[in-house]
Amino acid sequence: MSIKNVVNSYRFCPLCGKTNLLRQDDFMLKCKDCRFIYFDNPKPGVSCLIFNHNKQLLFTKRLKEPMKGSLGLPGGFVDSNETLDEAIIREIKEELFLDLNQSDIYYYGSSKGHFEYQGISYFIVTAWFICRKTVDEQTIKFATDEIEDLVFLDPEKIDFDLIKLPDVKNLMVKFINKKDYKKINFKI
Ligand SMILES: [Zn+2]
Repeated sequence: MSIKNVVNSYRFCPLCGKTNLLRQDDFMLKCKDCRFIYFDNPKPGVSCLIFNHNKQLLFTKRLKEPMKGSLGLPGGFVDSNETLDEAIIREIKEELFLDLNQSDIYYYGSSKGHFEYQGISYFIVTAWFICRKTVDEQTIKFATDEIEDLVFLDPEKIDFDLIKLPDVKNLMVKFINKKDYKKINFKI
């Protein structure tokens, strides 16, 4: 299946239904007949860096395509009418059954990239949070419909080749190289 971006996937103007469309730079679609304009803004996502009591970082092993078997972080896309904080707290609850509140997490930085789904490539921008609460590797549960397994790794020993999403990999390299994981003020 050839991958198209969103702007190149539209064949008809969603407003007037005609095909006289002008595309600009993969980001904008304009109808020459009715002047409908669509800007392809990135889809917002959220991820969280969570550690166990031994300060090892939690990774999720993906159960499904795309990138089945690769290591990622807990998180997902922001729902409509949801803040970034609400989204990451909901995702952590859904994926790991953990109840976090606002004071347990803080913003770290963001990454950008593409997410391919059913032949369409979407721009994404992901906000990364750090969780100040540590988790118990022995008792933590996970949603088995999305995650194959949980993997805890020492930050110094992460094999970056196992992280297939380029935006996750890039920010992870920065997080490790800058030793930002050593600056986390964990909650007791
Ligand atoms: Zn139109």
